[in-house]
Amino acid sequence: MLDQITRNKKVKVSKSKRGPWKVEVSSTAKNTRNFIREIVDNIKIEPNPQKQLISLSIGDPTVYGNLKTSNETIEAVIKAAREGAFNGYAPAVGYQNARQAVAEYLSFDGAEYSYEDVILCSGCSSSLEMCITVLADPLKGQNILVPRPGFPIYRTLAESIGVKVKYYDLIPEKDWEIDLDHLESLIDYKTAAIVLNNPSNPCGSVYSEDHLRKLLAIAYNYQIPIIADEIYDRLVFPGHKFVSLASLNSYVPILVCGGLAKRFLVPGWRLGWVAIHDPIGAFDHGVRQGMVKLSQRTIGSNTLIQGAIPSILKASPQKFFDGLIDTLVENAKICYEILKTAKGIIPYRPQGTMYMMVEIELEKFPEFKDGMTFGQKMIEEESVFCLPGECFEIPGFMRLVLTVPQNLMEEACDRIVDFCNRHYLLS
Ligand SMILES: *Cc1c(COP(=O)(O)O)cnc(C)c1O
Repeated sequence: MLDQITRNKKVKVSKSKRGPWKVEVSSTAKNTRNFIREIVDNIKIEPNPQKQLISLSIGDPTVYGNLKTSNETIEAVIKAAREGAFNGYAPAVGYQNARQAVAEYLSFDGAEYSYEDVILCSGCSSSLEMCITVLADPLKGQNILVPRPGFPIYRTLAESIGVKVKYYDLIPEKDWEIDLDHLESLIDYKTAAIVLNNPSNPCGSVYSEDHLRKLLAIAYNYQIPIIADEIYDRLVFPGHKFVSLASLNSYVPILVCGGLAKRFLVPGWRLGWVAIHDPIGAFDHGVRQGMVKLSQRTIGSNTLIQGAIPSILKASPQKFFDGLIDTLVENAKICYEILKTAKGIIPYRPQGTMYMMVEIELEKFPEFKDGMTFGQKMIEEESVFCLPGECFEIPGFMRLVLTVPQNLMEEACDRIVDFCNRHYLLS
């Protein structure tokens, strides 16, 4: 075959005609964009030298060292390492024991999985990549629906392989519920999947069963599968309830993505999963097999953590999870109470996750042409850095992380208030 092409096309180039050797980059690489980086690189980060920089930007709960994973989790990994039984290649979809443990962990609220429904991945990002790749076909010009505001990785993963994204709106005044009419209006015959992120990064929202059922009804009517990014499952504040989409046992085929990163405070360990919920067998015509094939491209996830995962998921005491929730609830309360006293911004109370959204009433700050210049000035004067809403496709907002130590949380919010009050209606 190759010989034939070479012969037919006369691809041989004479040495003298060769220019400098420039290797071309593939379109996959060219089309891969890190939207947070692109935006953050446009902000001059020059903090006020008089004030310690407080970064409320990175969604990594481990950076300040105040939040640590449980001892049980650490012991489980040490034990797995000592056993020496997890140094070889695992099956690309994961060890059966490890998959079984995840299946049981996810069955807590009535969703039912067997180990065969679970594929282990290198972090939840890689779970999402697998789901988007298995469902959406760039050669058919297909698209996926993703939330706005939302986590930018869905777009990164889709566009890098030539799949289009369409944004459905979330409604801030309704606790960031999905604008279901808008979502429905975006569906066309090329829509391959709907991405749901519940609880939501960056919104901190947690959807009610009723709202999820309405989404399922739309997906059912148009026969569109759902990719449910539930990485913040159970990181929910008192008074709210996490409902896994799969636990509603609709007839909609769902790929549930999750992992250890957030709830177990180990994002660097790169252990994620996809759990297949498909009571009607809609994924039996190639998708299940396709997932297995895709897992073989990189031969699965970290085996050491796989070896430890049955203990990690069972042995971490409730006290550990409660402690994390308490910290987040307390920080959310502090932020909300302090920020609501500021002029010209509106904090939105989160219902879960590690984030809080704050609206900037830009018309009250005529000095700044947009949220980016607002944010930049806040770094220069107050040394507080939050991610601008532009990172999540929602200009005029900023996202705060709630995982920093309490004294820094208070200090940062006090400085934001000073900043807002000082610049309010200043021109
Ligand atoms: C952090 C995060 C992920 C990625 O998790 P990893 O396991 O670190 O890859 C996926 N989705 C959302 C919404 C996240 O915030």
